Amino acid sequence: MELRVRFAPSPTGPLHIGGARSALFNYLLAQKTDGTFIVRSEDTDRERSSRESEHNILEALRWLGIQWNEGIEVGGEHGPYRQTERLELYRKYTERLLQSGDAYHCYCSEEELEAERQALIAQGETPRYLGKCRNLTTGERARYEAEGRKPVVRFRIPEGEQIVIHDHVRGEVAFESDGMGDFVIVKSDGIPTYNFAVVIDDSTMNITQVIRGEEHLSNTPRQVLIYQALGLKMPEFAHISLILNTEGRKMSKRDGDTAVIDYQKKGYLPEAIVNFIALLGWAPPGEDEFFTLDKLAEAFSLERVSKSPAVFDLNKLNWINAHYMKQAPLERLADLALPHLREAGVLPEGELSPEQREWIKGYVHAILERLDYMAQVREFVHYFVGAEVPEPESAAAADVLRGEQVLSVLSLLADKVETAKDLNGESTKGILKGITKDLKLSGKLVYMPIRVALTGQMHGPELYDIIPLLGRENVLSRIKQTQSRIGNA
Ligand code: GLU
Repeated sequence: MELRVRFAPSPTGPLHIGGARSALFNYLLAQKTDGTFIVRSEDTDRERSSRESEHNILEALRWLGIQWNEGIEVGGEHGPYRQTERLELYRKYTERLLQSGDAYHCYCSEEELEAERQALIAQGETPRYLGKCRNLTTGERARYEAEGRKPVVRFRIPEGEQIVIHDHVRGEVAFESDGMGDFVIVKSDGIPTYNFAVVIDDSTMNITQVIRGEEHLSNTPRQVLIYQALGLKMPEFAHISLILNTEGRKMSKRDGDTAVIDYQKKGYLPEAIVNFIALLGWAPPGEDEFFTLDKLAEAFSLERVSKSPAVFDLNKLNWINAHYMKQAPLERLADLALPHLREAGVLPEGELSPEQREWIKGYVHAILERLDYMAQVREFVHYFVGAEVPEPESAAAADVLRGEQVLSVLSLLADKVETAKDLNGESTKGILKGITKDLKLSGKLVYMPIRVALTGQMHGPELYDIIPLLGRENVLSRIKQTQSRIGNA
């Protein structure tokens, strides 16, 4: 049978790392088996859902390279793919459950339910609905209706039943029906709840495997009971583990960025994010940790998805991203760097000149080894841009400039930079070597003062990158500034 899987986000915010992982695992399984991957929207929470969030989630999936063959914006035979557009369908199934007695109208008010909750809590029991409206007579119903009460529809939980789920990740998980309490499947405004709508969607879309986050495991027995009551064929289930922070707590906003868009904005590469989230819970079969989407689709299987929680380790993401950055063409890296350099005020808005484009490429190339993600290009700007040189960073740096050879080194450097035909990496290497030769000085006595004179720092990118990228005028101006600082000292 053809594999049909789905990702069903609630469009109440951006796509989070956990959601992206669920989408990815579903996508990979569909790719691997030539199955169908569906994306639909669980938008029944009308207050919190928005089309904007839906759009953002879809854009984030596309950015990651996760494509769907059926669903929102793509279409297909089982649409519509938004729950709010499927209300008629849910109504039909609600009717069936009411007819068979597996569901009933409940007229309890918020206050009555709250009082019941508090009473149960006070007795040390799990709060749940105790079934007051389970067996209303026609007369009682009529009276409530006459009072103007709007009923919800509750599902009648069978007593004394054990529900066993054969989960692909967690193995056999058993739940007792007692204590669950009859739950609401349709609210008083006619909108279905998640546990009900998801069953109808999965069933009518012929979903064969439900792969989703562990937080939905406790919902699954309720869904199973609805399948059973309606006599619908059940999909298989796989619940993937929670994502924890490095301290072992559930990953939250406080641990840093949790939305995919945050990483996109920081200039991470989508292939790095995909690679990283694939490893959140899935163990590759060999030693290799680097996987493109295509390689993932070949290698992925639910058997290698771990039961234990996944750990979100930002250092690992940075390591993976740095790996992919080093492999990416410079043109692409320059495009990624551009918005960050604009934000830093280094480059103007609008069309760039060919020289400016070359400059970005040279810049990114010069600092690539030092970058984990592209937004960090801003941290190195002071080495490469501007006529002003920062003060020496430390006493040690200031000391370097006190050497007796320093003034002659700097004036020779100024001469050579001024007269160089072309200021590029090669010619700069020649200039620096020439100074050691002409003044008969060791490399250290030449390079370190030049470094401090031009950048204020004792460490940093290579001088033969800094000098051509700074450009002749800035280099000369920085030298002059340092010379007068020394003169005034
Ligand atoms: N809308 C649910 C969520 O965003 C998905 C539930 C499911 O996959 O069944 O977590």
